[in-house]
Amino acid sequence: MKKTILVTGASIAGPTLAYWLNQYGFTVTIVERAPELRLGGQNIDVKGPAKIIAERMGIEKIIREKNTTETGLRWVNTKNETQAEFPKESALSMTQELEILRGDLVKILYDHTKRDVEYRFNEYITKLNQSETCVNVTFSNGKTESFNLLIAAEGIGSYTRKLSFPKEPNFKYLGLYTAYITIKKAITDSSWARWCNAKNGIVFLIRPDNYGTTRASITFTAKEEEYKNLSFEEQKSALIERIQGSGWETERLIEEIKETKDLYFDRISQVKAAKWSEGRVAIVGDAAYCATPIAGKGTDLAMSGAYILAGELSVANTYQEAFKAYEEKMRPYVEKCQQLPPGIPGLVYPKSKIGVGILNGLVSLIGSKPGQKFIGLFAGKQKEAPQEIDLPTYR
Ligand SMILES: Cc1cc2nc3c(=O)[nH]c(=O)nc-3n(C[C@H](O)[C@H](O)[C@H](O)COP(=O)(O)OP(=O)(O)OC[C@H]3O[C@@H](n4cnc5c(N)ncnc54)[C@H](O)[C@@H]3O)c2cc1C
Repeated sequence: MKKTILVTGASIAGPTLAYWLNQYGFTVTIVERAPELRLGGQNIDVKGPAKIIAERMGIEKIIREKNTTETGLRWVNTKNETQAEFPKESALSMTQELEILRGDLVKILYDHTKRDVEYRFNEYITKLNQSETCVNVTFSNGKTESFNLLIAAEGIGSYTRKLSFPKEPNFKYLGLYTAYITIKKAITDSSWARWCNAKNGIVFLIRPDNYGTTRASITFTAKEEEYKNLSFEEQKSALIERIQGSGWETERLIEEIKETKDLYFDRISQVKAAKWSEGRVAIVGDAAYCATPIAGKGTDLAMSGAYILAGELSVANTYQEAFKAYEEKMRPYVEKCQQLPPGIPGLVYPKSKIGVGILNGLVSLIGSKPGQKFIGLFAGKQKEAPQEIDLPTYR
């Protein structure tokens, strides 16, 4: 009989894992708590290991076709005056070759797996217990079922992780909250992303998309407990209050926040879990090792973790051996990705108007022709960096 695996979470790690498990002959079911795919969020880059895995899955071309069309980044002040420009070709640009909206990647992964994997939406685990041979779960609709293994790919706040592990992981809070929102395109928007620092530790980032709308993120300094456990409407009000009077395009953003039904709002914390499995349950992606959007490694980690976990399950004699090998192969990479450069994120979120002015001046210097040339000497070398993590060909 085929081994059955339940995966929870249909974002990036979950469907990637399901794809490879299905390739290796497992029977996979995915449950997603939301009533449909969650397609919000901004651009993500498919580079490094994520690009290699996308190629092996045969989806690289589709990803390329969904390019966000972003041509580079403009660093602006609150008067919308450009302080520095980093075109896509610049070694310092955050715009990458394979730039795609997070939601588009989620949809591509779903479309690529939906024929072979059973997806169930609006469902999550409320109870579970493990026996010698299986994991018995009760779902939110009251039904019970048994699976050979359970893998949680539920993101940073995973509830199944809480149910399965005796202790929650350490959350290393980086002192920031972030909100993502899709907004109407305005006359000031173009194919350039715009980054704007405002006083009181706020960064606005507005980016073009390939749907005629605009993606905005608002990231700001806050105490960890300040915005915890808020309802959706409370999150909206708190966000409006926090950015009110910050200048630039704040009024536009406030109007959009008032209207939106699609706001992602969370703390920026790294997840540091001592163990990634407990008996027959394992965790993958942000649920196990979120590095935060600041590290720019979420997609790489989610896809390579899923790829390696599925591969190890396909070759090991027991699930215990597979979970052990998954940790051994992934942990050094996770640790590397979670290391942030000194002063990051603190330096980028100045509180005072003077601090913002100094930062803008510095960026303008870096963005000048001699500055870019000088830094490009070093960054150019990084472009030829060796493969970040070994991705064995399992079968
Ligand atoms: C709506 C949204 C927008 C995002 N936008 C950005 C962005 O703009 N930039 C960026 O860098 N990162 C963004 N992220 C985070 C990014 O997707 C992750 O850092 C990374 O891709 C790792 O993905 P993951 O699959 O491990 O987890 P996530 O992407 O966090 O996905 C977890 C999935 O699990 C589901 N889920 C949660 N709890 C349960 C449960 N109990 N049972 C079943 N399903 C559950 C969630 O609804 C979600 O679909 C966003 C995440 C989400 C959910």
